[in-house]
Amino acid sequence: MTDSRYIGRFAPTPSGFLHLGSLVAALASWLDARAVGGQWLLRMEDIDPPREAPGAQKAILDTLESYGLEWDGEVVYQHDRHGAYAEVIDRLFRQGLAYACTCSRKQLEGYNGIYPGLCRNLGHAQEDAAIRIRVPELTYSFNDRVQGHFQQHLGKEVGDFVIRRRDGLYAYQLAVVLDDAWQGVTDIVRGADLLDNTPRQLYLQELLGLSQPRYLHVPLIVQPDGHKLGKSYRSAPLPAEQAAPLILRALRALGQPTDAAMAAARPAEVLAHAARHWNAQAIPRSLALAEAELH
Ligand code: GLU
Ligand code: ZN
Repeated sequence: MTDSRYIGRFAPTPSGFLHLGSLVAALASWLDARAVGGQWLLRMEDIDPPREAPGAQKAILDTLESYGLEWDGEVVYQHDRHGAYAEVIDRLFRQGLAYACTCSRKQLEGYNGIYPGLCRNLGHAQEDAAIRIRVPELTYSFNDRVQGHFQQHLGKEVGDFVIRRRDGLYAYQLAVVLDDAWQGVTDIVRGADLLDNTPRQLYLQELLGLSQPRYLHVPLIVQPDGHKLGKSYRSAPLPAEQAAPLILRALRALGQPTDAAMAAARPAEVLAHAARHWNAQAIPRSLALAEAELH
């Protein structure tokens, strides 16, 4: 089956190197696109320079190349997209759909991360303030291709969320929605750590009149203690010379059939074989898999 209208993407944050968990997500996204003859775009989510690891951007691109995960077109960098983000924030602010929040971290303690709306009707100026979007008292839901039905009540479970931080940095929720729409992305395949971010993104899409992509959240690969790989752990870059065996490992994590003889093949051959046999239905329907249990 081919679908030349399919546009997928991988959108790494350069806060660290790719690790087995990000390989699983990148691979699933690449295969889901290539299996139907679709495009696969690459977007560097470099919106948070203070959290960026030196050399991570280049290392991520190098790893994708050495693992044969070729992307289409030029890499999009979010640092080139600030004008688009600023324009939308200004518009939402002028329309009263977003507002400035001057709450300190201290003031927000004890609310379990759910913003209680303290600044909602105070009419603060934008300067030296975070910008939050007003959320409706509604449940947003969608059908994930792997995780099934997921829903979240934005008012009760999230609260008005930040779209521009007080330090002026743009928030992931806004940037991801604007960029996926701008790049024409039809299918988002990513780690299950973002499952509960999706209802916020659905709301932004609705508010901005953008079309809604399909979603597929793959299980996270976690340490025995339940920690997600990467981010908090200083994972080393994935070794280029281990590409074929690590791709095979990632494929097994995704429930895909593998052939041990492929460990000696070139990464591109392993990927081509995997794309021919890709079956998204076989991906384990769980939020996390323990790294130690992967063969
Ligand atoms: N940049 C995000 C991350 O690396 C992923 C964004 C997304 O796929 O929506 O965690
Ligand atoms: Zn506030």
